[in-house]
Amino acid sequence: MALLFTEDELLQAAGPRSFERGLDYVEAVEELEFEGAEINAIVTGTYEYDVTIWRERAKLEGQCSCPWSQEGNFCKHCVAVGLAALASADGPKVEGQAAIVPAHTDLESWIDALGADELREELRALIRGDRGLRRRFELRAAQAGQDVEQVRKLARQLLGRGGLREPIEYEDAFDYARNVREVAEAIIVLIDKGHAAEALDLVREALSDTRAAIEDAENSDSDGTIAHAMAQLLPIHLRACSETSPDPTELAGHIAEHNLAVPHEFDFAYNVADYAEMLGEAGVVLVCDVYRAAYERNPKGWREKQLMEQLVRASGDLDALVEFLSRDLDSRGYQHLRIAQELEVADRVDEALRWAEAGLRDATGFIGTDLVEFVALRYGQAGRTDDLLTMRRNRFRAEMTVSHYELLRETAERCAAWPDERDRAMTLLHEDLAKQSPKAQYGMGPVLIDILVLEGDYAAAWELSRKAGSEPQRLKLAALIRTDKPEEALEVYEHALAPLRSQSGEDVYRREVELLQAIRACHAHLGTEPAFAAYLAAFRKEQRRKRNLMRLLDSVGLV
Ligand SMILES: [Zn+2]
Repeated sequence: MALLFTEDELLQAAGPRSFERGLDYVEAVEELEFEGAEINAIVTGTYEYDVTIWRERAKLEGQCSCPWSQEGNFCKHCVAVGLAALASADGPKVEGQAAIVPAHTDLESWIDALGADELREELRALIRGDRGLRRRFELRAAQAGQDVEQVRKLARQLLGRGGLREPIEYEDAFDYARNVREVAEAIIVLIDKGHAAEALDLVREALSDTRAAIEDAENSDSDGTIAHAMAQLLPIHLRACSETSPDPTELAGHIAEHNLAVPHEFDFAYNVADYAEMLGEAGVVLVCDVYRAAYERNPKGWREKQLMEQLVRASGDLDALVEFLSRDLDSRGYQHLRIAQELEVADRVDEALRWAEAGLRDATGFIGTDLVEFVALRYGQAGRTDDLLTMRRNRFRAEMTVSHYELLRETAERCAAWPDERDRAMTLLHEDLAKQSPKAQYGMGPVLIDILVLEGDYAAAWELSRKAGSEPQRLKLAALIRTDKPEEALEVYEHALAPLRSQSGEDVYRREVELLQAIRACHAHLGTEPAFAAYLAAFRKEQRRKRNLMRLLDSVGLV
């Protein structure tokens, strides 16, 4: 029986936000197919998505290969397919419904042919259906008419003043950033037309609204889209100030307050040096006093520490800077390295090396490569090869990784000490294998296997990986041994393919194709091509609904 449903049910399933977004994708629905109680289609956007909708216990359900759907949501693509199905001329009863995409080939000439009245009508229709667009055009009108109060009102709406809006979701970050840029543009126009004093207020409001939005959004602005737009407001503030000469005390207070409040991940603080002339000496001192007081209140605050460090650095007193930095030593030697670098630049190289060595000695956590290589370079330059070898050995003992093993080998070979050193390292690796190291626990498998592969001992690595290896290790080895041991490699590939069968998405499909090609290669070595043909046929039959996968298989000859 064909799947029957109403637009209301789509709205119920998706919720208003996704439903509204789905409206924009109706024209991107292709290859709409009604298959019994299911509707299948492809929705094209930046990517192509496989969509299926059906009914389960009276409820409308949808599955799509986009990330939002994979999290269990009825996404905008599902909505679009539902709407396209409802709109299709013959309703959801006809088999093999053709795509409903209108031809766009003539769009440019169609636009060229429109008269001014028709264009106005199209524009009005667009604005009627889109509140965000409407506000942006209202903002254009207000800035053209130099209506400061109207610009302020619209800027507040666009940037969500007063905590009225919900936290921005990832997919809205781009829209919000565009609003910030539109507001910035409007403020520039006001300055150009002689309203710098009002513009100064407006840009400060915009900065504070955007900052609040970023703090709420936190993870949603992971691409930094909003932060990037916010950075465009800073030069506008500087310009508005330089055209209005604000009171230095008030300006100092604002700058200090803003700089203490900006999130530390991004750099959109005011640069005090840009304002030095407007602030005058007294104003700059005032900014520093506010920083200092804030640091004394909260010496652990990230932002407070950063600004205080700026002050100490500006004083030009290196000992004071070292003392300041040493208040905040960490367990990974990060701060030790910073101190070492400061001293090194000032040519105090012995002290620099002592600080770096102390970092290596005192660190209890993961140590960054930069600190290790800082010390290694200086040992190398001073011809201290024994110290270098001891350090490499200690690093490998502390963190048994392939790269630390390679560095140990390189240093030991230069000292002609490798065979002994390797014995010692191997003993450690076998102990590590026996006690389930953290690396093995994270599913990466014992590092001994990776090192045997590195040294070209595939047979030993394979033996070990069958008992203790991770799947990535077995797959890597399978590729290395499949000419000699095709039967065993085949087992590894089939095992890796199994869990992917119930998943969808472009990455999954590409991975499946790789595995199928590897399986085919194993069968070729075994001389069992007919068995592969049967395996592939069964796989295709089982997966036939995933049309993007089928198309990919066709394109590489897996037919
Ligand atoms: Zn989707």
